[in-house]
This record gives sequence, structure tokens and C-alpha cells, in this order.
Amino acid sequence: MLIGSIEAGGTKFVCAVGDEKGLVLDKTSFSTEEPDKTLAKVESFFKEHPIEALGVGTFGPVDLDKTSNSYGTILKTPKIKWQNYPFLQKLKNTFHVPVAMDTDVNTACLGEYYYGAAKEANSSLYITVGTGIGAGLVQNGQVFQGKNHSEMGHIFVQKHPDDDFKGSCPSHGACIEGLASGPAIEKRYGKKGYLLAENPGVWEMEAFYLAQAIMNYFVMLSPEKIILGGGVMKQEKLYQMVQDEFMNLLNGYLAVDNVKNLIVKPELKDEQGVIGAIMLGVKALKREI
Ligand code: ADP
Ligand code: ZN
Repeated sequence: MLIGSIEAGGTKFVCAVGDEKGLVLDKTSFSTEEPDKTLAKVESFFKEHPIEALGVGTFGPVDLDKTSNSYGTILKTPKIKWQNYPFLQKLKNTFHVPVAMDTDVNTACLGEYYYGAAKEANSSLYITVGTGIGAGLVQNGQVFQGKNHSEMGHIFVQKHPDDDFKGSCPSHGACIEGLASGPAIEKRYGKKGYLLAENPGVWEMEAFYLAQAIMNYFVMLSPEKIILGGGVMKQEKLYQMVQDEFMNLLNGYLAVDNVKNLIVKPELKDEQGVIGAIMLGVKALKREI
């Protein structure tokens, strides 16, 4: 039995097929173009690999309110041709199998929950620090969702006393995404993050902000694992800096046995989205979603 998986990113689409256990059996990727052209490529991949269900982790924002008329539609995005595109409906019409859709970060969280850094845990938060900042929470195998998907990258944190950058979020300026995403680093210093690797102050400030966000998520959600992924976390020194700063902020208020087992790296390299989408497909097949 083949389960289909799509990791629909703003720049790249990954299509894969896997089995019910989440094992990836074949995979392809191509650039994201306008919707119909992209969907034609998706269709030709799955024509070669007939599937019984499909899971999709998509870029957003996307309407995931099941009671909404536009459920599964891409909302306001700078990718104009994708705006108002009824992505989920198009996939259902094309493949005639159960289809489940979630955000890219929620889907990555599901992959790490089942087969990666959180496979021993009952609850896990996955945070991506990349072009944007986003986070997903899985508890007992279910992705947390309210009326629509959460937007944990847009919380407010305290400004660092030495930071006069106003923040890059078009909606909020200095929310955590506006202060600590890859583009925020680039705007603050006028250079891409990887070119600032040897500048310790950059990463001290980054850890100062990320630790505050994590502290907020931790006291609200109490996840067993907090997985930090995304391009900015390629600065591996950040893990220890964030762990230390987080413990400073927590200040003994809650017990944490070993912060190195709480705030961790992803384990699935770049496959958490693809594997998470297979697991979404499995849930769609079992009518659990
Ligand atoms: P996306 O969020 O679009 O899926 P990524 O997770 O790869 O993509 O994040 C891209 C962001 O990460 C960019 O802003 C980029 O500058 C930043 N980034 C990528 N590699 C590094 C690195 N080695 N050090 C610091 N920042 C990086
Ligand atoms: Zn914001």
C-alpha cells in the first residue's frame, strides 16, 4: 500500500511515496511554479506511483478551518498566483483518495514526533527558525489546532538593550519572527547569517531572543521535547547558547532534569516534512483526520 506525501514549499515541492510506517520509498523534487504547472508535475509523479491516500504539508498561510468554505485554500501570500488557490480541493479532485493537509511546520513536527527526536515523547514542539519562524505542537499523535493553525512565530518578546533594530515583520515589526528569523538577522546586520558566523554578538542576541520565545512556549505548553530546526540553526553553537539562556530565564521556577534532552536538534535531517506528510496520509486513510 502506497501513501503519497507532498512537502509544498514556497520555493520547492517535494513529492514522495512511502509505506504505512513512514518509510520513504521514492522521492522527487522540483521548483514551485504557478499552481497549475506545479500540480501537473505532482500528478505525473503520482501517476507512476498509485497512492491510496495523500498527506500534504504546505506553505501558508492556509485556511485549515474545517468549517470554512475555503478550507484548504492558500490565503494572502506574496506568491500572487497561489493566492486563493483551492489547493486541497484540487488535490482531491485529481487523485480521488483521502487527502489530509496541514502547515509545513506542523507536518515537520509530526515527522519528528513519530520517527525523529521526539519518538519517545508524548508531546513535542517543533520550531523552525528560517525565512520565518513558526512552531507546531503534537500531543498524543495529534497536531494541536484551534479554529485555524497557530502562528507561534508572532509572539512578542523583550528587546535586547543593545538592539536598535525595529524588526522586520510587516505586521508587527518586533515580534519574534521580526527579530530572530534569517531575514531579520540579514536586515539588522546587512549580511546573511552564514557570513556572520564568527561574530559572537550576533548569536548571543539570537539566543537571547529564541530563549525568550521558548520560555514562553514552555510555560504555556509544557512539551516533553522542543526541537529547533530551520536554516538559522545551522549555526550549531546556538543550541548550547539557547539552552543556557533558557535555563537562566526559567530561573528554577520549573524543574528541568537536563536541558540538553529538552531543547534538541531534529533527527530526520531534511526529511521530517516528507515523513510527517506520509503520516498525515496514513491518518487520512484511517479517517483519523
Ligand atoms: P525556509 O524557512 O524558507 O524553509 P530555511 O529553513 O533553509 O528555509 O531558512 C532559510 C534562512 O536561514 C535564510 O534566511 C538564511 O539566510 C538562513 N540560513 C541558512 N543557512 C544559514 C547558516 N549557515 N547560518 C545562518 N543562517 C542561515
Ligand atoms: Zn509578526
